[in-house]
Amino acid sequence: MSILRTLSIPLLIAGCTFGLVLWAFPEEVSTGRMLGIVLGWAGCSLLLVALLLMLRETWLARGFAGLERMYRWHHWVGMAAYVLLLAHPLALAAAAWQESRLAAWQTLSPFSQGWPVWVGWLSLLFLMLGLAATFATRLPYRTWRWLHIGLGVAVLLGLAHLILLGIDEPVLPILALAALLLGWRVIRADFGTAARPYVVQSAQRVAADMVEISLAPLGGPVAVTTGQFVLVAFFAGPGFRGCGEFHPFTVSSVENGGHIRIAVKALGDCTRHIQSVGPGVTARVHGGFGEFLAHRPPLPQFWIAGGTGITPFLAVLREGLVSQPTRLLYLYRSGTGAAFVQELQDIAHADPHLSLQTMQVDNPQPDLDALLPDAHELSHRECYLCGPPGMIAALKPALRQRGITPRHIHFENFGFR
Ligand SMILES: Cc1cc2nc3c(=O)[nH]c(=O)nc-3n(C[C@H](O)[C@H](O)[C@H](O)COP(=O)(O)OP(=O)(O)OC[C@H]3O[C@@H](n4cnc5c(N)ncnc54)[C@H](O)[C@@H]3O)c2cc1C
Repeated sequence: MSILRTLSIPLLIAGCTFGLVLWAFPEEVSTGRMLGIVLGWAGCSLLLVALLLMLRETWLARGFAGLERMYRWHHWVGMAAYVLLLAHPLALAAAAWQESRLAAWQTLSPFSQGWPVWVGWLSLLFLMLGLAATFATRLPYRTWRWLHIGLGVAVLLGLAHLILLGIDEPVLPILALAALLLGWRVIRADFGTAARPYVVQSAQRVAADMVEISLAPLGGPVAVTTGQFVLVAFFAGPGFRGCGEFHPFTVSSVENGGHIRIAVKALGDCTRHIQSVGPGVTARVHGGFGEFLAHRPPLPQFWIAGGTGITPFLAVLREGLVSQPTRLLYLYRSGTGAAFVQELQDIAHADPHLSLQTMQVDNPQPDLDALLPDAHELSHRECYLCGPPGMIAALKPALRQRGITPRHIHFENFGFR
């Protein structure tokens, strides 16, 4: 990854924060009050950056080195904004304390102030609830997502707080920008106007709870390459009505005429329902996203796939022979049945560079360390891991213990939350 892309998001954060603080820097106020106001503006700018980092645009994801990286920064920046915005009223009260305890209390207490401060506290309350929900990862995803949207309300209330305080310069442009970013996310990503129309051509059962779906473009196809994932929503068709929600799925095959295939494992409500999809069902596809497997160096490879994490590797192998000696370890649970094993064995049989090891792993906490080859078998190999976040988290330290440095370990998590 180029240094510019690595620094892209930190540079954006620094630029926005210093820019806004300098633009709105308070004059003729005490140092304590100045600090309180600066904390407010810095928190506000971080909220704006967090809004930008939740957009789902292929060009933006390329610029910021991937959607998953944008989400990670979105979380960190959102939390930092929360801390600064919590410190904002506390610093103002501390400054007022110099004057008197009453003035300090009046700065904080919503009872002695009017709408401007009430709305400020309401914004902070929405921020607290939204962030509390963010950490409640056991919540069903759909509930989690709606509570997370509450954070957007907190942003707009925070800016209304500033307008009610009579601060209109530079609040109005920021309010407009915040509304634009929120609208952009909802209209382009959640309503799917950034997506392209497709139709299901076929749906083939490849395991007890996994179906491989072939999708044909109804207009211009999305630009997608092997190893990438797309956001797909299914709608109506013969005997089927989809939930219309966009979910990320890795393309398991990129074919002529813009046709793509995705393999969907039944995990929750939506993917369980998708198991019954059939020809003629309409869908919308947004992407391609991600660079997993895109820039593979000309070195021997070690690929580890867990369950549906086989899809990006399968897409590359279906494209043709691998150019480097490649060892693929495919771990799957008996419940899902060994999807694509026969096809992978046929591919490995025909490809002198590819060695395939398939392993049924039913233990919920498998000893992955024991499954890995020794250090000398892995030396000078580029490692690629794909599958559930738990598997990735367990494999990384095990590979590092075998002398593989982080620069040679690439992974794709099948969970964004
Ligand atoms: C980069 C990437 C590639 C993926 N590729 C595949 C694939 O090729 N085949 C496959 O079967 N699965 C794949 N997944 C996982 C798939 O997206 C989830 O299994 C699916 O979204 C679950 O939705 P659900 O409603 O059935 O389950 P839920 O019970 O609602 O969610 C289960 C988990 O899936 C994740 N999830 C749910 N909805 C979304 C969403 N809209 N956006 C992001 N994450 C969500 C959350 O982490 C949630 O905890 C991929 C995930 C990612 C992040």
